[in-house]
Amino acid sequence: MHTTVSYKRTLRKYIGLCNICKRKKSLSWDHVPPRGGIELTPTEIRSVFQLLTDDEKGDKPRESQNGVKFRTICRDCNNQLGIQYDAVINDFAIGVGRYLTSSLKLPAIINFRTKPARLIRGILGHLLSAKMEFESAVFDEQVRNILFDEKAELPQDINVFFWVYPYPETIIARDIVMLAVRGDFSNVAMFQILKYFPIAYLVVTEPRYEGLDELTRFRDLGLDDEAEIPIRLGRVEHRHWPELVDRGNIVLGGASLEESVWAKPRRKDRNPV
Ligand SMILES: [Zn+2]
Repeated sequence: MHTTVSYKRTLRKYIGLCNICKRKKSLSWDHVPPRGGIELTPTEIRSVFQLLTDDEKGDKPRESQNGVKFRTICRDCNNQLGIQYDAVINDFAIGVGRYLTSSLKLPAIINFRTKPARLIRGILGHLLSAKMEFESAVFDEQVRNILFDEKAELPQDINVFFWVYPYPETIIARDIVMLAVRGDFSNVAMFQILKYFPIAYLVVTEPRYEGLDELTRFRDLGLDDEAEIPIRLGRVEHRHWPELVDRGNIVLGGASLEESVWAKPRRKDRNPV
């Protein structure tokens, strides 16, 4: 792995409170996104980017995949997260990635069959682990309550959205406050962001955001119920959307905003590992 991580502290004490079960235990590393997802060559990423954006110049993706990890959860929770959810998260990433790298002419929308309840919980679990400090923030507590409880209902203010993300960076941001509707300064919402090739996920306290497709419309499915998820290949946003501050957006946040992660690939030749 060749990764530059821009957050300030990468380590928490070896013994600490697990971000998931809240017990004081020795902490293990959680990879966010989980290992075993899609790994494309730089050329493949570049061609996907051009395919989706029709952009020959301009904002080109950089080199390769990267890995970010957090030592914030105990081994038991880490194993549970992996066993219960990582296969579905990775299948989704690999499956969508395969469409994007095929030589077929792509339709505007593809449908991908998956187990949405596992996908949703897995993304929430890794977002929970992706925070350096143990906190009792609302989102953290909500996710702790439902993560390994199959019968627990997802709270109504956890809404998970997604879109294609043809960039090689991993971007993680926790507990950031932004405008609920871009350009409308009368209302804000809380956001959690996890973006990595080929899908970006956004968790918002509001029931909709900028017309994005919602994963949590499948929130009532059982863990192993399957559904076809429509993926709109034509909707590509800037790599730093929506957290980019512009005329239609502001970003407010506390301590964890400073710990947001933007992991970009390093050049192999300069940084041998
Ligand atoms: Zn734990």
